[in-house]
This record gives sequence, C-alpha cells and structure tokens, in this order.
Amino acid sequence: MSNSTTTAIDIKKIRAQFPVLNQEVNGKPLIYFDNAATSQTAKSVVDALIKFYEKDHANIHRGIHTLAERSTKGFEETRERVHQFINSEEADEIIFTKGTTESINLVAQSWGSKFLKKGDEILISQLEHHSNIVPWQLAAERTGAIIKVIPINEKGEILLDAYKKLLNRKTKLVAVNYVSNSLGTINPVKEIIELAIAQGAITMIDAAQAAPHIKIDVQDLNCDFLALSSHKMYGPTGVGVLYGRRDLLEVIPPYQGGGEMIKDVSFNGTTFNDIPYKFEAGTPNIGEVIAFKFAMDFIDEIGHENIQAYEHELLEYANSKLKSIPGFTPIGTADKKTSVISFLIRNVHPYDLGQLLDAKGIAVRTGHHCTQPLMDFLEIDGTVRASFAVYSTKEEIDVFCESLQKIVARFN
Ligand code: PLP
Repeated sequence: MSNSTTTAIDIKKIRAQFPVLNQEVNGKPLIYFDNAATSQTAKSVVDALIKFYEKDHANIHRGIHTLAERSTKGFEETRERVHQFINSEEADEIIFTKGTTESINLVAQSWGSKFLKKGDEILISQLEHHSNIVPWQLAAERTGAIIKVIPINEKGEILLDAYKKLLNRKTKLVAVNYVSNSLGTINPVKEIIELAIAQGAITMIDAAQAAPHIKIDVQDLNCDFLALSSHKMYGPTGVGVLYGRRDLLEVIPPYQGGGEMIKDVSFNGTTFNDIPYKFEAGTPNIGEVIAFKFAMDFIDEIGHENIQAYEHELLEYANSKLKSIPGFTPIGTADKKTSVISFLIRNVHPYDLGQLLDAKGIAVRTGHHCTQPLMDFLEIDGTVRASFAVYSTKEEIDVFCESLQKIVARFN
C-alpha cells in the first residue's frame, strides 16, 4: 500500500475528526481536494457549534444573565486563542471579521481613508487573490493613490529585485499574500516586510492560505496587518481575523457604525469604543467564533511542523506521479510551495476535467481561482487545482492519478 508516510501524522485519528470524508459521491468514495477553497470542518468544531446553539446561545457583551456571560466568555476566549496562535503582542490587536476579504476591506477603508493621499503608491503582487486587489483599487479611486504591481517569474515566484526597485518614499503600503491560492507559492514575506519597513511603508499580509499550513508569528514577521479565514483552517465559515498593530488600530477610524463599537451616542456626536470593539459593529457570528477556537486546537495538537512535513510529502508524491500523465503541465513550480497543484492537461478543458473528476467522486477546483491578473500573466484562462489538507492521503492521490490517466486516455 502506498499510504505509508515518514512523518509523525496519525492519519486514522485525524480522519476520524472529519466524518464528512466518509461518504460516497457519484457512487465513489469522496476524495476532497478542494481545500484551498475551503477545508472540511473538524468534528470538535461542529460539536462546539452544536453545544453553543443547544445550550449557550445568547448575545455577547451586553447581557448580565448566565447565558450571555457564557457566550461572552467563549467569544473572548477565542480572541485570546488567536492572540496565542499568531503570537500578537496583545489580544486587543485581534479583530473578528467575516473573513480575509472583510479584514482587507477594513484596512483598505479605515487605514486607507486616514493615510492615503493623491500620488501615494500601493504595492501588490501579480499573485494576489481578488480580495487583495479590488479593495486597494477602491481605496485608490477614493484617494488618488496609485497601485503598482510586483512582478513574478514563470515559476510563480515574486521577483525581489524588481520589488526593491518599485519601493520608494511614495510607497505607503505593501499588501501581499503569504501563500498564493492558485499556485501554492510560499512568498518570502519576512524579507518583503523588512524591505517595506526600510522605506517607511505599512504592510498587510493576506495569510488566508498560510494559516492552515505554516506557523504564523506576527511579531517575528513584524507586519502591521495580517488577515486570515477560519474556514480554511478546519473551522467554521463566516469568521475571519484581522490582526493590527495597536498604535495603528487606535488611530484609524471605525469601519462600520452600529452597536458594540461605541462608548456614547447622542445626536450631537458619538465616541467610539476601545480596540478591538471599535471595529466590531453589530452582532458577530458568535457561535462560529467560539467554535473556531477548537480548529486552532486541532491544528496545534498536530503541530504546524508535522502538518507542513506531511503535506510536503503528499505534494512530492503527487508531483512524481502526475509527471507521467501524458499532456500534464504543472502551473506554478515555485521552489517553496504548500500542497497545491495547479495544472492543465493537453486537449482537455479544465472545466471538463473538473466535471469528469467529480463523476469519479473527486472534488477539485477549476477556473481562475479569483486571480484573473495572475491568469492573464500566465496567458491562460484558468487551471485545475488540487489542494491537499492534513487529512489527505497518498491512497487518494493514487486514485486521483489513476482517474486522470483514464480521462486523458479518452481525450488524447
Ligand atoms: N486571499 C486568499 C489568498 C485566498 O485564497 C482567499 C480565499 O480563497 C481569500 C483571500 C478570501 O478569503 P475569504 O473568502 O475567506 O474572505
């Protein structure tokens, strides 16, 4: 059997946390390789959600009754947990949002409206997800700032020398992803941040694709802002995090107005709450935030190092098998990658491939993966993307490769 691994992963124990994987799709055992879009939710997370809705459901921060105290405690415990998980200096630097998209929009609107002016430059890379492009385009339209794009090479790696040349005193912000969702490239964010700081620029790291795979330490990275999404980390949907440095969060204006984010409201004016509440208007996804804590526990129990080593083994294994498929072209061959394989196959449209794989119970992603400028650079419309998680196995990769072989034989 090909499922032997050399890493410290108890795959049986891990898969027991994901009953969803234990089903047939189109008459075949489900193989879920769409983890870069969203990962499956750990059972401990689902249990926490059920417990919240069955026993503890109450609004947070406002009530003095027992259920309100319970839900507030659970909610704030997750804030503490995120603070540990990404090693922020304080828990107050953790803001809950709907997801990475909202976190970036918050910075683009709040920080952008305070600090960007005409002629200022925002640097983003060719690798960005639309959520790290469009909010900056909107901010640029509002303020007259200019967006400049850090180029990449054919392998899908950021060109650091070109980046250094783009940096100058007009650069006010550098916003890049830690890991590319389309190609899996792990970007040298620490170096990117260091260079940005040397020019006095603020940094925003989109860590949506990094958080499930790589240990994040915001103090070590020395970034100003960082965003992530729970649903890519075995947690619930509708929960994201924005980390921001206290001194910046304190001076930028609120993102949305409403309940929770105020100290005093009168018709003559409003004073705003302290951070992080200043940025958390309205009732959040309370149960989902509470349950997110269990997703971080799940990741930490296995350990990022073990996750990375195991997923790297899967990546290498898949790469070595896929090479022999006629007409197979990998898209994105960076030296440092997470377990994402984007590819094309001669004479088969990605969309057809996605459908034919689904007929065999295999879930992959097809299309531009919300990175149209990257696809334009690569001169393609899209790719097929298989992305592995810590519960993926070599056996599944075997079935995936055999299925691809059969499909390819029909088309070539
Ligand atoms: N950034 C990257 C790199 C992503 O992969 C994604 C989602 O695929 C996002 C941002 C947006 O995340 P969300 O949809 O959770 O807001």
